[in-house]
Amino acid sequence: MSRRSTAEDLARSLPTTPYVAGHWQPDSPQHTFDVVDPVTERPLVTVTEADAATVDKAVTSARDALDDGEWARLDGAARGSLLLAFAQLIEDHAEDFADLESLDVGKPGIEVRVIDLPQTVGTFRYYAGWADKLTGQSIPTPGYQGRRTLSYTVRQPVGVVAAITPWNSPTMIGSWKIAPALAAGCAVVLKPPEDAPLTSLLLAQLAGEAGFPPGAFNVVSGRGATTGKTLVEHPGVDKISFTGSPETGRIVAAAAARTFRPTTLELGGKSPQIVFADADLDAAAAGVALGIFANQGEVCAAGSRILVARAIHDEFVDRLAAHAAKVVLGDPFDDGTTMGALVNAKQRDRVLDYIRIGRHEGARLVTGGGRPERRGYFVEPTLFAGASPGMTIAREEIFGPVGTIIAFDDDDQAVSIANDSSYALAATLWTTDLSRAHTVAARVRAGAVAVNGWSPLDARLPWGGSKLSGLGRELGWAGIEANTELKTITVVL
Ligand code: NAD
Repeated sequence: MSRRSTAEDLARSLPTTPYVAGHWQPDSPQHTFDVVDPVTERPLVTVTEADAATVDKAVTSARDALDDGEWARLDGAARGSLLLAFAQLIEDHAEDFADLESLDVGKPGIEVRVIDLPQTVGTFRYYAGWADKLTGQSIPTPGYQGRRTLSYTVRQPVGVVAAITPWNSPTMIGSWKIAPALAAGCAVVLKPPEDAPLTSLLLAQLAGEAGFPPGAFNVVSGRGATTGKTLVEHPGVDKISFTGSPETGRIVAAAAARTFRPTTLELGGKSPQIVFADADLDAAAAGVALGIFANQGEVCAAGSRILVARAIHDEFVDRLAAHAAKVVLGDPFDDGTTMGALVNAKQRDRVLDYIRIGRHEGARLVTGGGRPERRGYFVEPTLFAGASPGMTIAREEIFGPVGTIIAFDDDDQAVSIANDSSYALAATLWTTDLSRAHTVAARVRAGAVAVNGWSPLDARLPWGGSKLSGLGRELGWAGIEANTELKTITVVL
């Protein structure tokens, strides 16, 4: 039996109904959606969509878990143990997760095994460590009407957290939301992406096995306009953590603003990769290619604006094109595949549209630009050179394997082009000059800057952006802050 058919069998064996209060809910044949395999273009499984009543049940069960459920009675150490058990189960099922994510998203298994899964497991383990360390402070105060006072803060869970995830890396991005929320003692209602819900269903199964009490972790699959909308508008939700497009982010933020609910938004970018003339060109070409072609370019931090010093421009373009030529497009289950399919026909057409616009606006197509003659939502790795910063392909997030190369003359111009964007999520700098590295890192507007490589995705490192890239930070201590509230208590002694 091939790996692909084993994976398909696994997908068909998963429970597909909402997971609420520790139970799989009954099937509801009138509310379903198909999950389509982006490589075969055939439906994989039919999943039950959580309707308004089910979303309400999930939010209520999360509230109950917090108010007087078993979950609320667990101390930090017990929550940490559960998170460790969860991490271990995910690690034990790493191959299942990798296969499901390749089927669902179309990405090569190697990427899931090397990046997404270790990062997911690491994130649960990292936050397990925080769960029993959420302390407050004692703050000296001058007293009250001649009496001494004791003032202190305690850090409490923010409450019911709605976590809404995108299809590009649903397992890993899900862990960034679920792990800190559970560590902080919140209860979670996860709404996975309708294009790629399978690994979230497996997560629900394993959460039950790990022993999380009913209501602590719930999964409601469904479309954004129905299940997602119902969830973010539900008055019982205390905090929303969302990753996806700026357009949807705006809708989510507006729903949250009505009652001033805290919101974390991670909305993608148009990240610059700046290659200076003094860079190690071998390393830079390999790193820049990874930055734009990994995960088919469907990465919020994809380095889609490639700014290259004019002195090395032509040579660097050739080197980058050589890397693009080495990309092997194919079935994620085939050995040797380094780039899979885009997630759906809509995304493929969107990317091809941008390629048409790039040509129309006068950028020079260096390589790619088409789709291979085969079934599946594939797009060739594509590079445009001779682009100007005002072109659409230099300004809008394409979310596909399309890099736009822009030449610059000096550091000031490089910084100015890098910052001339509606987004500010990530940047990479390629230089051997230490002073230039730190100076430019300070000047580039981005939530994360990496020099001479890609910053390791690591649960200890805060992640997020500003402008259209979003609001707030995930991961690191910031992930705990985003899921807790400080309470100040003063006792007049
Ligand atoms: P999207 O923003 O529509 O969807 C992201 C998530 O939000 C999904 O789970 C979706 O079901 C949910 N959602 C949609 N409408 C909602 C609503 N009204 N209320 C609550 N939840 C809702 O993104 P998409 O359609 O999957 O992709 C569109 C574009 O978004 C892509 O082309 C890409 O540019 C961008 N994107 C960015 C990221 C990222 O990591 N920043 C990830 C995926 C997509």
